Amino acid sequence: MAAEEWQLDDFEIGKFIGEGKFGKVYLAREKQSGYVIALKVIFKKKKLEKYQFFGHLKREIEIQHSLDHPNVLRLFAWFHDETRVFLVLEYAAQVELYKLLNNLLRFSEKRAATYVASLAKALAYCHKKHVIHRDIKPENLLLDYEGRLKIADFGWAAQLQAHGKRQTMCGTIDYLAPEMVQNKAHDQTVDNWTLGILCYEFLYGVPPFEAEDKYDTFRRILKVDVVFPSSPLVSPEAKDLISKLLVKDSSKRLSLQKILEHPWIVQNADPSGCGF
Ligand code: AMP
Repeated sequence: MAAEEWQLDDFEIGKFIGEGKFGKVYLAREKQSGYVIALKVIFKKKKLEKYQFFGHLKREIEIQHSLDHPNVLRLFAWFHDETRVFLVLEYAAQVELYKLLNNLLRFSEKRAATYVASLAKALAYCHKKHVIHRDIKPENLLLDYEGRLKIADFGWAAQLQAHGKRQTMCGTIDYLAPEMVQNKAHDQTVDNWTLGILCYEFLYGVPPFEAEDKYDTFRRILKVDVVFPSSPLVSPEAKDLISKLLVKDSSKRLSLQKILEHPWIVQNADPSGCGF
């Protein structure tokens, strides 16, 4: 779907779903097919000019539009008028993952392993296309009507040349890999580190390097100061997987394929990605 092919009139606009930093999101239906989508509306003047965000948004759109995987939120199309940019997105009907985690406090091993496996599959697909996400965190993960995890936000994603490295410091502090904290060149293995952080957070309810201020968090990340508290009870296999992902030397982190073959994932993850 190219940008010119669509206009607002092609959609029936439904209820307001939510608001982010750069736009409002509405439930909508494509009039001809009846297909239900989420329509994100971004005001050019208010948001984009203020943040000099045109280039950034264009890159985000290009990257997300090029991806087609069951665990990556589809960006079907986009179009714009004088004042607004519209993104036609797959609708994720269930609660956002961070709200679910807040409500449940922590996930069961089955649910955690299922989400980690879904993420590993989605990231393996992205990495194969030379896209590194760099900002995987619960706020960027949505759940579809069946509860299947969808990576939703590619605002910090980067396209690497094959075997290339990037150097922009980005992402959210708790989820940053040591090489990013140190502002060193980094590659797709930053996403593998983040999977270790998320796996810990899914099981314990908090990310592993949380601290009073961000400098303490930085210090703990650089020391890889992982503590596994005795409560809640977490299986040794889950801790083993986390320990093999939170490795300072990025070349020694478990690969995404090895994550999927890890005994904890094999024993716990639901193959459908949503059966619990
Ligand atoms: P965002 O601007 O992407 O942060 O979106 C703002 C809010 O809208 C999010 O927190 C979600 O609650 C909701 N939202 C965004 N995209 C979708 C989507 N594709 N399906 C369902 N809800 C969405």
